Amino acid sequence: MWLPGLNSRKTFSHGIHPPESKELTQDKAIRRLPFAPHLIIPLSQHTGAPAKPIVREGQEVARGEPIAEPGGFVSVPMHAPVTGRVEKIALARDARGGMSPAIFIEQYPAANQEILYGAETDIDSLTPEELVKAVQATGVVGLGGAAFPTHVKLALPEGKSVDTIIVNGCECEPFLTTDHRVMLEQVDSIFKGIRIVLRALGAKQAIVGIETNKMDAVETMRAGIPKGVPCTIEAIEAKYPQGAEKMLTKALVNREVPSGGLPIDVGVAVFNVATLAQIGELMPVRQGLIERVVTVSGTGVHNPGNFLMAIGTPLRFIMDQVGFKERECQIILGGPMMGTSVGTLDLPVTKGVTGILAIAKDHPLAIRNGKVFPCIKCGSCVEACPMHLNPSELGLLARKQEYETMAERYHLMDCFECGCCSFVCPSNIPLVQYFRVSKAINRERKVPK
Ligand code: SF4
Ligand code: SF4
Repeated sequence: MWLPGLNSRKTFSHGIHPPESKELTQDKAIRRLPFAPHLIIPLSQHTGAPAKPIVREGQEVARGEPIAEPGGFVSVPMHAPVTGRVEKIALARDARGGMSPAIFIEQYPAANQEILYGAETDIDSLTPEELVKAVQATGVVGLGGAAFPTHVKLALPEGKSVDTIIVNGCECEPFLTTDHRVMLEQVDSIFKGIRIVLRALGAKQAIVGIETNKMDAVETMRAGIPKGVPCTIEAIEAKYPQGAEKMLTKALVNREVPSGGLPIDVGVAVFNVATLAQIGELMPVRQGLIERVVTVSGTGVHNPGNFLMAIGTPLRFIMDQVGFKERECQIILGGPMMGTSVGTLDLPVTKGVTGILAIAKDHPLAIRNGKVFPCIKCGSCVEACPMHLNPSELGLLARKQEYETMAERYHLMDCFECGCCSFVCPSNIPLVQYFRVSKAINRERKVPK
């Protein structure tokens, strides 16, 4: 039987099909999680310069009030996620295992948590430059996990232009269902966001790419296109990493982003669907990002679901709400392919956190940390790499610490750390971890490619 979209041939070459594991939460509507008594708002939860606090210890803050200003153009402000009191401004643990400055807020349990900030704005009256500033003021960053400040993508560099906006509704990481639920439940906000970015960039059209395992979202989005918005909804093959910018650009408009380049080099700008929903909801009323939808899932979670939660909510509070098998599980922030395994629950949810997973340590999707065996030259990693790199050779060079050769002869810097190679490796070689470290070393040494 042929169904529109289900037999879609739109895709990219290579990639993998890990177990999707989305059935735990894909039918669960978004529910609001209670406010935690204490919240931690890191000042550096986005790419770029950290935000600078504009409140002092002991100060009362109202929900939605700006509490930190951008530290530069590539930076965003922070807003109070709850009404309460600033307990302290001090170092807090981060997901990378280090410490970084954060604002700690104690919530007032008796407060009604009403948002008093904001003002209605007619977006059609704003110039593209004013739109960029207004989007920066919302504090919105890439909510698909990248946490790159969204307004920066709206400020066109000299000599560049964008004709097509690509909206990423793929959500190709296993377990995660936040974007899926946002497309079913926040259609109007998504299209408001699409209108804003089309206007800011002067683009002619928007294309929303959604994988064929979310046909209900394809239909809901198609039915929701407002009159006069030049937008099409495309069903594309469910394959990992279909949601990566370069893969999506190839699949939807058949343009190759050059090595070392960005989608803007081929006239395209890519935005995550949840990011646009937040811009559409917040920018027209001049409010700030204070909460987000997060999938809490995994075989070790008693009550998995998709939850709207305040930025800064501690993981311990969230996991106590849903219940989980603490001793037996690995905790992952984000999806299992590109996420981070964390050893503590003393961490807050930040703007870029798409999911919190608790999965058995021996689950096929657990992040690998077991015994490593020698490369058997099976070629599986080469077959899997969507960037057509040679992960096997790169892995050998990483072990020999030949970082510059990796970049100059084997295009290491084109690796976007999707994790396909590590996932398929029968020798359990943590290739993607090697490449992360090698890239960081090359960046420090400023190797050109
Ligand atoms: S992590 Fe890098 S090398 Fe490995 S498959 Fe992905 S892009 Fe290729
Ligand atoms: S998948 Fe692993 S064992 Fe196979 S070639 Fe690649 S690195 Fe070697």
